[in-house]
Amino acid sequence: MIKRIFIFLLAAVLLLTAVVLFNTFRFSAGDQDAAAVQAVEIGKYDTAAIHLSQALQIKTVSFGDTLPIDTAEFLKFRAFMETTYPLMHAHLEKQSFNLFSYVFKWKGKDTAAKPYVLMAHTDVVPVEAVAESKWTYPSFSGKIEKDTIWGRGAVDDKSSAIAIMEAVEALLRDGFVPERTVYLAFGHDEEISGKRGANVFSKWFKEQKISPALVVDEGGMIDTQRFKDLGKPVAVIGTGEKGYTNIDLTVEIPGGHSSQPLPETAIDILNKAIVNVRKEQMPAMITPPVQELLSRTSIGSFTTRMAMANLWLFKGAVVGKMEENKQTNAMVHTTLVPTIVKAGIKDNVIPTIAKATFNSRILPGQTSDDVLNFVKQAVNDERVQVTKQTISLIEPSPITPTEHPAFKQLSAIVQKTAPNALISPYLLIGASDSRYFRGFSDAVLNFTPMQDAKGFHGIDERIGISDLNRMISFYKLLLQEK
Ligand SMILES: [Zn+2]
Repeated sequence: MIKRIFIFLLAAVLLLTAVVLFNTFRFSAGDQDAAAVQAVEIGKYDTAAIHLSQALQIKTVSFGDTLPIDTAEFLKFRAFMETTYPLMHAHLEKQSFNLFSYVFKWKGKDTAAKPYVLMAHTDVVPVEAVAESKWTYPSFSGKIEKDTIWGRGAVDDKSSAIAIMEAVEALLRDGFVPERTVYLAFGHDEEISGKRGANVFSKWFKEQKISPALVVDEGGMIDTQRFKDLGKPVAVIGTGEKGYTNIDLTVEIPGGHSSQPLPETAIDILNKAIVNVRKEQMPAMITPPVQELLSRTSIGSFTTRMAMANLWLFKGAVVGKMEENKQTNAMVHTTLVPTIVKAGIKDNVIPTIAKATFNSRILPGQTSDDVLNFVKQAVNDERVQVTKQTISLIEPSPITPTEHPAFKQLSAIVQKTAPNALISPYLLIGASDSRYFRGFSDAVLNFTPMQDAKGFHGIDERIGISDLNRMISFYKLLLQEK
């Protein structure tokens, strides 16, 4: 009897191994176009670096949702655009939205063809006073040192705006007319959720019934660091965005004099609630762009390929590996983190109210209601009110499939600008202005051919001149597409 069980188990193990190996060897790492790609020569655009430097010196800062912007700086940026790109202003139709967001229309030869939309934002995040002294060069200096341009916005996202305008201006100088109509859409408040910029002009696109063939915005880049065992860089194209919501936890119970505390105060109850929410993450999910990214990059390692070819068996192990690092963890989980805690007004008064705000980034496939329910269950204390803020709520975006012509078209151009890179879709774990287009267009993609972005939202933000040149070439290729 025991022998029979042993034989049965052995057979089962052998069968399982056979299935796993069969899947692994049969596994294709995604449909990369194997055709040899003719690399384009990256042009030299000497003045472009100076233009970016000038743009970085203008303090178009988005301070916060309810804080005013320095309109003088935004006016300066407008004047800079007008003097630096005169042909673009002479030949393209310009519209303004809430004063400082702009949409330019470049009419193509074939007006029946679906247009392209090239996006970028002109605002930047502030530099904290304490961080300023840590910068190698002052944060708004636009310093050009050898092959690098330094300053807030060098990566995020003035380089994209400048590269787009340089490409357009250069083509106009040559008398070029695009085949299809092209819109340039520049938001001025992306860093504070794009409510006054992209939110408004995207509605205009929708009202005009403009159905773009392709919308390209910031997001994906060329990564030479993260996939070392592949032996080549990976160009990731964003095909979807996580959602955004804030969940408030409020505890309101009588306070009193701090000399006679009750066993539990509003702060104690809130503390426990916060700890309980942070104890576990929401269930992991491998969304299509993440699955494709893992598959396409798995060719470098047999074990990864085996795991990806047999997700039915190894999903837990794959998720476990992703959870080891905060960035990859955010690709497989809806995240929840307390970002604001408020309670108390005086050291000898026990507060009557204590409140915490959790910021959550929601995976496609889950919703803000799932997040709310998860938090309620984790808190499991009726003294804690759990509510969802509506003002900042954005549900996760739909995902642009890799079979979509937009993805194929963009991939071909990316491959020309970065010939040795492996191309893959991926999921944006942050947010971009283009999410407002995802509501009505299935052709939204996030990519700029910058390599290993440095310092964005942090210290020493900077970009190589070769990156800027590659970006200009990329947009020129896009504009010259048929
Ligand atoms: Zn940005």
